[in-house]
Amino acid sequence: MCKPARREPGDVTLIAVSKTHPSEAIRPLLDAGQRVFGENRVQEAEGKWPALREEYSDIALHLIGQLQSNKAEEAVALFDCIHSLDRPSLLKALAKAMDKAGRRVPCFVQVNIGNEAQKGGCSLAGLPSFLGEVQAAEIPLAGLMCIPPADIEPAPFFALLAKLAADHGLTGLSMGMSGDYETAVMLGATHVRVGTALFGERGKG
Ligand SMILES: *Cc1c(COP(=O)(O)O)cnc(C)c1O
Repeated sequence: MCKPARREPGDVTLIAVSKTHPSEAIRPLLDAGQRVFGENRVQEAEGKWPALREEYSDIALHLIGQLQSNKAEEAVALFDCIHSLDRPSLLKALAKAMDKAGRRVPCFVQVNIGNEAQKGGCSLAGLPSFLGEVQAAEIPLAGLMCIPPADIEPAPFFALLAKLAADHGLTGLSMGMSGDYETAVMLGATHVRVGTALFGERGKG
């Protein structure tokens, strides 16, 4: 996927999104050498990953789904990166949890790139001040993340996220899923979150 986009393979991290898939479905990817995985629920990840981590070394676990503030401590204990930091209350909870754990977990700020009422993510208008708050809280800022609106061409949204990141001097861009990761890589994604294309259709959950 990198060649046509003139990107080096090492510039793009493939996050294998294993949500709803049991450990037996995850093991073949681990055996093939994949080490970066994404989950969208803290509780589900707690049920699967501690055991897999005992079997396989060097696993990096990314939280890609919405996070409730009351789960911040568990998230900080389990995950190596959080992609859904999107509001001051969560920032406060994460900063507190990181202080308590003595562990700084890099976070992407999720942007509500299509201004959708039902979606999580920081508003476009609120982004500059929120980024300032994140920096003041001394949380390592990995970059920006987005989930574009469904069923329309995602490229303009990816391009907008890339521009926002560049405007703020950020290099990390978490964007692109099974249906659009090639477009995302063309437009500068550093992290693509791919589930269905790797695992097949998801199970219940
Ligand atoms: C499930 C999910 C993905 C992966 O989606 P697929 O279409 O299965 O590749 C990526 N990002 C987020 C935030 C998700 O919840």
